[in-house]
Amino acid sequence: MSISRILIANRGEIALRIHRAAHEMGIETVAVHSTADADAMHVRLADHAVCIGPPPAADSYLNVAAIISAAEISQADAIHPGYGFLSENAKFAEIVEAHDIAWIGPKPEHIRTMGDKVEAKRTAGALGLPLVPGSDGAVSDYDEARRIAAEIGYPVIIKAASGGGGRGMKVCAAEDQLETLMKQAGNEAKSAFGDATVYIEKYLGNPRHIEFQVFGDGRGNAIHLGERDCSLQRRHQKVLEEAPSPVLTPEERDRMGAICADAMAQMGYRGAGTIEFLWEDGEFYFIEMNTRLQVEHPVTEMITGIDLVREQIRIADGKDLSCRQEDIEFKGHAIECRINAEDPFTFAPSPGKVNYYHAAGGMHVRVDSGLYAGYSIPPYYDSMIAKLIVYGRNRERCIMRLRRALEEMVVEGVKTSIPLHQELIKQPDVLNGDYSIKWLEEWLKEREAE
Ligand code: ADP
Repeated sequence: MSISRILIANRGEIALRIHRAAHEMGIETVAVHSTADADAMHVRLADHAVCIGPPPAADSYLNVAAIISAAEISQADAIHPGYGFLSENAKFAEIVEAHDIAWIGPKPEHIRTMGDKVEAKRTAGALGLPLVPGSDGAVSDYDEARRIAAEIGYPVIIKAASGGGGRGMKVCAAEDQLETLMKQAGNEAKSAFGDATVYIEKYLGNPRHIEFQVFGDGRGNAIHLGERDCSLQRRHQKVLEEAPSPVLTPEERDRMGAICADAMAQMGYRGAGTIEFLWEDGEFYFIEMNTRLQVEHPVTEMITGIDLVREQIRIADGKDLSCRQEDIEFKGHAIECRINAEDPFTFAPSPGKVNYYHAAGGMHVRVDSGLYAGYSIPPYYDSMIAKLIVYGRNRERCIMRLRRALEEMVVEGVKTSIPLHQELIKQPDVLNGDYSIKWLEEWLKEREAE
């Protein structure tokens, strides 16, 4: 097989990102879009475009029948799902493959396993990844829950097996609240995900979020591309990401990376994946695996020089991994700022017309965005409108360059999170790399109180 035309089942900056990798490989692209996105940059740049429905995502970007029809009409021989939307939908991956279209993603069974958090944790444990201490699978019996919680020690966190986006989680400080909180978590999970299954794990007080990028060829070979530190989060949404993590030594990176790559090799994993850990006092604890490309993948590209989307396409085309572990070198430092169309401090969404746009540029500065002057940001989708990614030979140089690049970036007509990033990278804790997943929300609270 040889891929010659890729349908991109996504929108915004990631659709553009995939288009760019495809064109650099001499592959044509097909954009799909809702009626709200007819003027979007990914539609303008693609070789072909198909309208797949009205603005709501459920009727367009999540509309499986419309996307498969678009692929057939446009004679696409592969589909790249990007992130979000249908990217982690195992059923969709199966349908794509059943239509003899190459799925630029992991094997459907691996998407399914990792999509169920209880199953994912069990699998991760069996593959040798370190876990957060907790229940061995789902818990429904309150006596059993009390026994497990007493054993691991309070506080504990109750999590939904089908959870996502930080929903369906309850922190429980003491035994007398356990039953009530388990009921609440179960009910919330039932109404959000249609599944009341919950499990229990130890609540870590002040961890960092550190994730490893992995790639497998689907035939038992796998590599890792190091880690990203995504601890600066608000409501479990990442705001700024960096690679490498300020707290890992090269030895720890090699050790954990090898454990991750080995786990993927054992699974016969195919394509790109991210193994997410909480990290506290030098210990890693697996929380979940994402079976897709991540928003923050460019920081890994900056420090390794490897095009992750190109790698995904090659693997879907049946080729071998383009490099061996011993050939991968981690060089310098990279930071990504997610720029959203929202008020920088209240976080209220701010869609609308962009009157003026000027992207930052210069040495080692990358802007992934579909923005242009005159573009109207539709209110229906995610508020992220650009990613600013900056490289430096070390962390200090990277931050100085980021400061300069943020000064250059101009988006007029809507509010953006650029001022938030400008303030953030002045904070001593951020400059020192001294922050956990709690830091940003605490800083915002203090800032508001002033
Ligand atoms: P989701 O799939 O909903 O994003 P995750 O399991 O990835 O759920 O957890 C989301 C976030 O919740 C983590 O990044 C972390 O901030 C917090 N969290 C999850 N598990 C724990 C834990 N055991 N202790 C402390 N915080 C946790």
